[in-house]
Amino acid sequence: MQNRNNLTFIGCETSFDKADTIIFGAPYDCTSSYRAGSRFAPKAIRTESYAIETYSPYQDKDLTDTKTADYGDLDLPFGNPVPALNKISALVKKIIASDKTPFMLGGEHLVTFGAVRELIKKYPDLHIIHFDAHTDLRDNYLGQTLSHATVIKRCHDLTGDNKIYQFGIRSGEKTEFEWAKQHTHLNKFNFDTFDETLDKLKNVPVYFTLDLDILDCSCFCGTGTPEPGGVSFTELLNAIIKLGSLNIVGTDVNELCPPCDASGASTAVACKIVRELLLSINK
Ligand code: MN
Ligand code: MN
Repeated sequence: MQNRNNLTFIGCETSFDKADTIIFGAPYDCTSSYRAGSRFAPKAIRTESYAIETYSPYQDKDLTDTKTADYGDLDLPFGNPVPALNKISALVKKIIASDKTPFMLGGEHLVTFGAVRELIKKYPDLHIIHFDAHTDLRDNYLGQTLSHATVIKRCHDLTGDNKIYQFGIRSGEKTEFEWAKQHTHLNKFNFDTFDETLDKLKNVPVYFTLDLDILDCSCFCGTGTPEPGGVSFTELLNAIIKLGSLNIVGTDVNELCPPCDASGASTAVACKIVRELLLSINK
């Protein structure tokens, strides 16, 4: 078993075989268009996780009561995203073959595609919940079809229409917002329609992808493409807790860029969100 880190996320020390949820890092940021550095996120999140507790007063649950393994980081090549995505898909395939839930720490948002394209083979009716400041619906970005800016469009290539529910979106090209009206459920700015979505998705397998830049820059400036006007930490936390009512078959938390926030506060925010998400989706 590959595990090049002695350090696990706090409270996640179950063995791979006995675990039902597998954390792994995908330290890839080679298509980042503005501030790169999200490749450093998985290790920063693990290290900083020892500054928070395993117990959540919000959910009255403890990570040490879950069966969560931390696999460590994938060893991903730089540059061309194709081999990096192949490595992500191969690990996700192995995780879901033994009916475990993959929990990926990005990296930039493109890493999501490597997980989704594998999960949809097992769950053809896969639906996606996408939290982000950005649409990520470009068909290509500077000629590249595989990019953090195209990742949800690539996922739509696989899911087809109206299976992707986007929240917090406040940035993108006009053509992306227009396209979304026909092809995804794009909810701008906030979580006002989130409860309706939860009702709709009660009986289907769901992949949840969290681009942390959905958060307002005032509480989360450590990201590659900060976008003012985002949701608060508490709003995001409440939405994540509600995800526990769904059948989440895979998830990821991406776009923390530790070098962009020298205070370390953004990494602490990411750690707490990872803890709450682990506890929320735990069955
Ligand atoms: Mn994104
Ligand atoms: Mn984003």
